[in-house]
Amino acid sequence: MKLIAFEYQQRRRLGLVENDRIRPLLGVSELQELIALPERAIPDPQASLLSLEQVRVLPVINPRRNVMCVGWNYRKHFDESIGKREGQGPETLPEIPTFFSKATGTVAAASDDLPLHAGLTSKLDWEVELAVVIGRGGRDIDEADALSHVYGYTVANDISARDLQRAHGAQWFKGKSLDGTCPLGPVLVTVDQLHDPQALTIECRVNGQVMQRDTTANQIFSVARLIAELSRGMTLEPGDVILTGTPDGIGAAREPALFLADGDLIESRIQGIGSLSNLVLASLSAATPSNRLVSLSCE
Ligand code: MG
Repeated sequence: MKLIAFEYQQRRRLGLVENDRIRPLLGVSELQELIALPERAIPDPQASLLSLEQVRVLPVINPRRNVMCVGWNYRKHFDESIGKREGQGPETLPEIPTFFSKATGTVAAASDDLPLHAGLTSKLDWEVELAVVIGRGGRDIDEADALSHVYGYTVANDISARDLQRAHGAQWFKGKSLDGTCPLGPVLVTVDQLHDPQALTIECRVNGQVMQRDTTANQIFSVARLIAELSRGMTLEPGDVILTGTPDGIGAAREPALFLADGDLIESRIQGIGSLSNLVLASLSAATPSNRLVSLSCE
C-alpha cells in the first residue's frame, strides 16, 4: 500500500494513493490504527477518488514518542564534517550507531511552510533521510528478523539548527527539536511494496540546486542493524519513527558554509517513495499548510 494522511471536509483521514489520486479509507484517521489492525484498510464505498488539489496533506504519521534518529550513517557525510564538529562527535568512524531524538513537535507535513526561527538560529541546515515506521514492536530484535518489524518507509528531513546543536552541551536534542523541523511524508510505502530499503536514491535540493545525492546502499548501518541496536534493552513500539541518517552535502560542511534563508525551498526526494516540498519562512512561528502540491508519483 501507499498511504497518505490528509484533511478533507474538516476531517483527518487516511487514504490509499492510486496513481495521482487518493482513495479514502473507511473510519481510520491515524496510521497507528492501521498498524494495529491491518484489516481496517478498507476503501470508503461512499467516497470518491480525490485529487491533491481537493485535500490538505497532513503528516503521514503523528508519532506518539520522540522521532528516533541516527547520526553519521553515510561515510562521505562523516568525512565531510571532520574538523568541523567543534568538539562534538568522534574523529574516527563509530563502530556502533550514534542515536539521538527529535521532539514530537518537530513533525510537519510534506508541503508545509516551515519557520526559519531567525531570532534563535542563524544556522538552520537540511538533512534528507529515509524514515522507517515500526509495525510490530519488540525488544532485543535480531538483525536477521528486524525488517519484519517494519511497517513501511517515508521521506523526512532532519532540519537542524547547527549553532544550537553546538551551544547546548554535548548532545543534539535542542538543536534538533525546534518546532516544524521534521517534515514527514507525503506517502508511506508499506514493506510489501518496498522490499529492499538499501537500494534507494536519496536527494535534497535547495532552490532547485542538488545539495545531497546518494543511495541508501551507502548506509554504514543498515535499517536492520539500526533496529537491532536500538531495540537492545529498549522496547520499540508500533508507530515509532526512526530517521536513518543523512548523506553528505549538508550546508554546515560546505566551503563556505551555507544555511537556510528566508524564502528557501527545500525539496527532499527518495526513489520509490516520494518527495517533500517545504518553503522556509522567517515570518512563521509554526509549520503552516501551503497550497503547494507535492508529487505522489515515486519514480
Ligand atoms: Mg540527521
